[in-house]
Parts: sequence; structure tokens; C-alpha cells
Amino acid sequence: MTSPEYDYIIVGAGSAGCVLANRLSASGEHRVLLLEAGEDDRWMWIKIPAGIAHILIGERAIWRFATEPDEKVGGRSIFWPRGRALGGSSAVNGMIWVRSDPLELDHWESLGNPGWGSSDILPYLKRMESFTQGDPAYRGHDGPMHITRYKDRDALSQGFIQGAQQAGVPAVEDYNGPRFEGVSYLQYNTKRGWRRHTGDNYLRPAMRRANLKVETGALTQRVLLEGRRATGLVYRKGGQDFTVKARREVLLCAGSIQSPQLLELSGIGNADVLKRAGVNVAHHLPGVGENLRDHLHVRLGFETQLNITLNTILRSPLLKAKMGARWLFLGRGLMSTSSATSMAIARSSPDLPRPDIKMQLHQLSMASSHYGGREGARSIAERMGLDPYPGFSIGCYCLRPESQGSVHIRGADAAEPPEIRANYLSAEHDIRTIVAALRMIRKIAAQPGLAQHIVRETRPGPAASSDDALLDHARATGQTSYHPIGTCRMGADARAVVDARLKVHGIDGLRVCDASIMPTMVASNTNAPSIMIGEKASDLVLADARGH
Ligand SMILES: Cc1cc2nc3c(=O)[nH]c(=O)nc-3n(C[C@H](O)[C@H](O)[C@H](O)COP(=O)(O)OP(=O)(O)OC[C@H]3O[C@@H](n4cnc5c(N)ncnc54)[C@H](O)[C@@H]3O)c2cc1C
Repeated sequence: MTSPEYDYIIVGAGSAGCVLANRLSASGEHRVLLLEAGEDDRWMWIKIPAGIAHILIGERAIWRFATEPDEKVGGRSIFWPRGRALGGSSAVNGMIWVRSDPLELDHWESLGNPGWGSSDILPYLKRMESFTQGDPAYRGHDGPMHITRYKDRDALSQGFIQGAQQAGVPAVEDYNGPRFEGVSYLQYNTKRGWRRHTGDNYLRPAMRRANLKVETGALTQRVLLEGRRATGLVYRKGGQDFTVKARREVLLCAGSIQSPQLLELSGIGNADVLKRAGVNVAHHLPGVGENLRDHLHVRLGFETQLNITLNTILRSPLLKAKMGARWLFLGRGLMSTSSATSMAIARSSPDLPRPDIKMQLHQLSMASSHYGGREGARSIAERMGLDPYPGFSIGCYCLRPESQGSVHIRGADAAEPPEIRANYLSAEHDIRTIVAALRMIRKIAAQPGLAQHIVRETRPGPAASSDDALLDHARATGQTSYHPIGTCRMGADARAVVDARLKVHGIDGLRVCDASIMPTMVASNTNAPSIMIGEKASDLVLADARGH
């Protein structure tokens, strides 16, 4: 079936796609279609920050991807969820708001990407957020994303912050301000204790506009090409295929797994990969799906005397009710978070020119070390696999991983999950850094500020004292931090996929605008940077429409 023409067709209503839908439809001049495979999900567990555990156990709002089994992580296949709803991964994520290391943005620019340095990007970081406490030279005060700092001063968070300082990590008031490095309470994209994602903040207000059409439950199958020009696409909804035409551009915002998947399904990618999958080659672009990077998250577990962590609260009806009331009436407490309350951005060695590791306090401890859980168990504590004693964990990762993996299609079907090779811990730098980060956590835990709250280290336990034992722990238990990036890398070289204006090399009328364009890991969590990419992309698209 054929539908009418649009000026712009956006694929994916995630962190970046919702921004583009808003900005491109704002003037009323352009007809915009936004296609989202998920639903307009007004599910309670999306609204409540602590609902992330429920979301990730189920299927309703996520794609349940998994990596290929890999000997470097003990032969495991790792669960890699991505958001599938209006809001995309911003509707299901941990809400931790970290805007990026400015030095890494400067590095992007130095790689041949003019306009992406920290001073060019700062205005976008400011215009997307609303944070009233920060320095106005760095922080936005009236943007769509409402930002809150963790308000409670509980003993465990304080202990972590003190311990980190005693271990030599400086305190930082606002890591999204003039200095990135340091230990502090976390900031979240929440408002009065409720999750506020890009679907809420950017898309919903724009949905009133007559020139924006949003189709949910619409799985894009492939982009249509006439010669070297993208002219529209085919999507499937309710078992039927629809063809839509784009007068100006098709904008892929399907995220780091599915944007490269869609390019390959459209015949744009490495010719060998396409031929193996039975897809006709329209344009040989060997970098598509390569350069995949993620933060491998490794935790140390601890038992504590404090009865304030989720391990205790979720097993006590009284404490659960108190936590619920505190959240409902004050917008505070652990229910207003995904369990993480504070973090330290630090250098694993004082000789380094800038921070290379992040450590984060999670007010729970569990065997599985990620929110994957067991479906069917009776209580949420059991489903999450929480330890039966009061516990917490400190997770860490290497900020700028050098290990690179890939995402490629297996066949010609958009509904078939692509093959994801994370290739964690393949680069020597990452191996060295993760071991140093685990040692740094132990150093923090041994300081009086935090040590007073620790009964014992439970995972991997003090017997694991050599570098090899710590590396074994990382390989056996490390999980995704949910930060895949880089699979449609921006750059000017032969293996880059898009240029600095996010246009696919060699194809007209087609851009990729999401986390997949990041050339290297932005050295932080990836939601705010993905929203920034949506903001910057919208200016690039509108400038080109105006002819400059
Ligand atoms: C569980 C989890 C926790 C996280 N925690 C944090 C955190 O605390 N802080 C942080 O900064 N970052 C976090 N992240 C990462 C962050 O949310 C992502 O990096 C960011 O949302 C990526 O944005 P994006 O626009 O690239 O893609 P997404 O937001 O993933 O959007 C892609 C959209 O495209 C849709 N789509 C895909 N394929 C198709 C198709 N063929 N047709 C139509 N639609 C399609 C998807 O359904 C999705 O809605 C987390 C992510 C997850 C999954």
C-alpha cells in the first residue's frame, strides 16, 4: 500500500529521534513522519524510576537482544536490551544524566569532524536541559529535559563519597559543569521523582502539530533507493507493508543496533556481509556495523550492616510501603532512582592526563549483576536475584574502551535480531584499566568513610587478590552498561559511515542521527549525548533545507 509523501521520514522514536521529530516539525513548514516499532507505552513501570527492574525482566517495552557467546567473557552470551516504545531507550534506561567528557568531544573533532568540538556542542547541551542549580555558563535552565540531583543524604552514599575522597578522588559539585572529574551525587532526567524521557519531553508536545504524523507498531523494513538517492522506505504494520516517500530526506534514528541493520537491509554496507545475508549490494560501505563499543560493567559486591538498601527494603512490606510513600509524596528515595545514587569519575593512575574510569554505587547486591532477573519468581526481590542479606555493589567501567565489536544482519528480514559481537576485553588497554578500576573500588572500600558500613566483600571476595583473579572476575561476571555506540561511525576516512553532517557517505537524502554515529565512546553514559546528537542533527538538517 502507498501512503502520501513527507518531507522527512524519521525511523525510531528514541533519545535522538524524538528530538528530530520535535525540531523539524516546529516551524510548520515541513511534513514529518516518525515511525516507531514499539508502542505509545503509558505503562506505570516506565513512569516510576525504580520500575526499570520490571521493564527489563519482561518483553513489553524492550528488544531482548543478546551478544554472541564469547570466550573472552567466559563463553557467555550477554543480554543487551534496547528500548522499544515512544522514547526508545530513554523510556527504559537508568535515567543517569551525564553529558560527556568535553575532551572526548574535542577528540571527535580532531578525528576530522568539524563542528563537533566541545565549544560547538556546549550550546546544544545547554538548550536540551533544564537544571536550575548549575553554573549558567555551562548548564541549561529552560530546555525540555528536566534534571534533578539525588537529594537524599543516606549513610551509604555519604560513605561512598567520603571513601572516594579519602582514596584521593576530588569532590565535584556538578560533573556536568566546568569539571567532569570527581565524586558526587548523581543527576537524573526525572521530575518530582517521575521518569521524564524524550517521548514525554520532546515528542508529546509536538504530537499536537498537524504536520507531524507518528506511527507506532511500525517496523521499518528497508530504505528505498533510486540510484544513489534515498527516496522513501517500506514499513510493516499489522502484517501489511506500506511504502512512503520522502521528498527531502530519510533520517535513521533506530539506535546502534538497528540503524546499521537498516542500512544493510537496504543494500548499504560491506558487500561480503550483504551477499552472505542474501541482500543485493546497492553501495559498498565497509564500515557499516563495525566499530561497536560498549562499557563493560563489572561490580564488586559487599554485605553491609545498613538496613537501607533494596535487598532489605524489597523483602519487607513495611519498608516497601515507606519507600513508596516517600517517593509518592516527596519524589525522593530509592524509588526515584534505578538504584544508583553516586559516582566517581577518576584516574586509575595519577600519571594519566585525564580520568579513565568510572565507579558507581548501587544500593543493591545481586548474583546476576544486571537487571535481567528471573521471570516467574514470586517476589520482585527474587525475580531480580537480590542477595538475601543487606548488600550493595560498586560497579566500574573503563571510560574509553578500545575493544571493538560489530553488528551485522544474518538475513534479509528486519524482524530477525542481528548478530552482535561485543568483543569485550579484547584490547590490552581495557584489560589493564578494568583491573585498575576494581583495585580502586577496593581502595575506596577500605577507607574509613565507607569501611565502617562494610561487613565483608562478597563478590569476588578477598581471596581474589591477584590481577589475574580480578580479570577472571571481570570475564566471568561483566555485563553491558547498555551503552553501545559507534556502528555508523562519523568521519572522513574510507571506513566511516557518515560525514560530519551525518550524511551517509555516497548516498543522497539519507542521514544517521543517533548513538551509532559516535566515533569513539563519549566517556560517559550515552543518553544525554544521544539527545545532543538529535539536537545537532536537527540544526544540520534545517540549515541544509534553507540552503546554507
Ligand atoms: C536498560 C538501559 C539502561 C540505560 N541506562 C542509561 C542511563 O542511566 N544513562 C544514560 O545516559 N544512558 C543509559 N542508557 C543508554 C541510553 O539510553 C542510550 O544510549 C540512548 O537512549 C540511545 O539513543 P538512540 O537515539 O541512539 O536510540 P534509542 O533510544 O534506542 O532509539 C531507537 C528507537 O528506534 C526504534 N527502532 C529500532 N528499529 C526500528 C525499525 N526497524 N523501525 C522502527 N523503529 C525502530 C526502537 O524501538 C527505539 O525506540 C541505557 C540504556 C538501556 C537500554
